[in-house]
Amino acid sequence: MHDAAEEYAWPTCAPCGRGLRHEELGRIACRLCQRRTDEHLEALAGDTGLYASLADALTPGAGLGEGRVSGSRTAPLPLRLEPLSLSARGGIVTVLQTWLIDWHDTLGWRHPRWEGGLQQQLDQVVKALRVNLEWAASSHPAFAEFSTEVASLTRACRSQATGERPERRITVACPCGGTLRITISTPGARCPGCGTQYARADVLELPLAERRMAA
Ligand SMILES: [Zn+2]
Ligand SMILES: [Zn+2]
Repeated sequence: MHDAAEEYAWPTCAPCGRGLRHEELGRIACRLCQRRTDEHLEALAGDTGLYASLADALTPGAGLGEGRVSGSRTAPLPLRLEPLSLSARGGIVTVLQTWLIDWHDTLGWRHPRWEGGLQQQLDQVVKALRVNLEWAASSHPAFAEFSTEVASLTRACRSQATGERPERRITVACPCGGTLRITISTPGARCPGCGTQYARADVLELPLAERRMAA
């Protein structure tokens, strides 16, 4: 059964689920989500950026802190989050270039060209994405996926570069019976079961699912 009120619900920001402000109507994402994504992109680029800092984290023993590895009860990071796989071809640079190609296709532009080594390519692709971010946040239907991916890449780099533990993921239960995997800083999440888009504040209100499932 469809509820008329639901059909005419106020438009929301795709990444965070908040209601769009009047001057944001017609956009895919709110200004706050656009700015947050821009900050993440900015943090990745440049000689002192997070991407450059991965090189230091590649040194054995660096980043994680001495003694942390042995006797650690923390599960190892998935391979794709390790510094080498983040910084190598196929890592961050490739993920961002794939998005830029997608944007060029959507806009009907020629395929972008890459020049130089990986750091130069990273700087180029970040610059191009930032230049077109206003368009993407306004019009690109997959902006939520893009902003989520950029946020998780930035977080993975930061945790490698500084040795911070990655944020703990928790599983919360949607009333529909579906579960959502979130972190404490999630901007919002969509339930894979019923498709409900939860804003940050609402998703953090959902009950934990782990214990219930274990029981
Ligand atoms: Zn938003
Ligand atoms: Zn649900």
